[in-house]
Amino acid sequence: MFRLTGKVAVVTGGSRGIGRACCEALAEHGAHVVINYVRGEQAARECADAIIAAGGTAELAAFDVADTAATETALEAIIKAHGKIDILVANAGISIDGLLLRVKDEDLDKLWHTNVTGSITCARVAMKSMMRARSGRIIFMSSVVGEMGNVGQTAYAATKAAVIGAAKSIAREYAARNVTVNAIAPGFIDTDMTHAMNDQAKEAVLKAVPLGRTGSARDIAAACVYLASDEAGYVTGQVLRVNGGMYV
Ligand code: NDP
Repeated sequence: MFRLTGKVAVVTGGSRGIGRACCEALAEHGAHVVINYVRGEQAARECADAIIAAGGTAELAAFDVADTAATETALEAIIKAHGKIDILVANAGISIDGLLLRVKDEDLDKLWHTNVTGSITCARVAMKSMMRARSGRIIFMSSVVGEMGNVGQTAYAATKAAVIGAAKSIAREYAARNVTVNAIAPGFIDTDMTHAMNDQAKEAVLKAVPLGRTGSARDIAAACVYLASDEAGYVTGQVLRVNGGMYV
């Protein structure tokens, strides 16, 4: 089950955290993985080395998903080099937290350009290849807070709700082309992003998780492999919640 041999997968923000786990898991199942990053070349290289050491294949692609022109150029070059993109995991994202009255305009712009425009731009370019192939998988990385909201996360949660709207719309538009589009909504996952939270905030979040633990990036990667697989061919326009029961 879940064989991805011969597939080309692009994972944005693949150098660290959830993205890295997705890269490794997709490669484990046979996909050739293109690891995108923006600043962390060393981390991206470590991810590629780990994949290659485990017998898989991977390459790096540095571009800022918030830079539309650079993203289009990079993805078109990937399509040219490989002839296709079969799987897109639009995972690159940032969080900037703050109570509503303290939300800055520049932070709103930054969050929107990275989390929303970046994801939609990647989907738009990848879709050209998927339409031609009459097959493809697009997976957007949303968040539990995109569905349930959270104090101090107005701007971030709004971007994560937006990617769900985008996923559902693209799913409807391209179902006839046999391209499935879904979102994963992770809960509280142990990565650099959550390491930045203070202990009090972490404790409060953990109390709201019925399974009583943080999730691992591997927990999310397993959902990603499933949605990327042939076995998920009848699943589209869905939000797959991987959150330990935090939001049901
Ligand atoms: P990390 O902060 O650990 O990693 C973020 C990744 O995104 C890095 O690879 C980073 O690259 C990349 N990235 C950031 N900005 C850009 C950009 N402009 N262009 C290209 N790549 C970029 O995050 P997580 O692994 O925790 O999160 C991954 C996704 O999952 C995000 O979309 C996040 O919102 C979502 N999520 C995370 C949760 C969690 O609890 N951790 C919960 C719910 C959702 P580089 O190394 O070059 O900086």
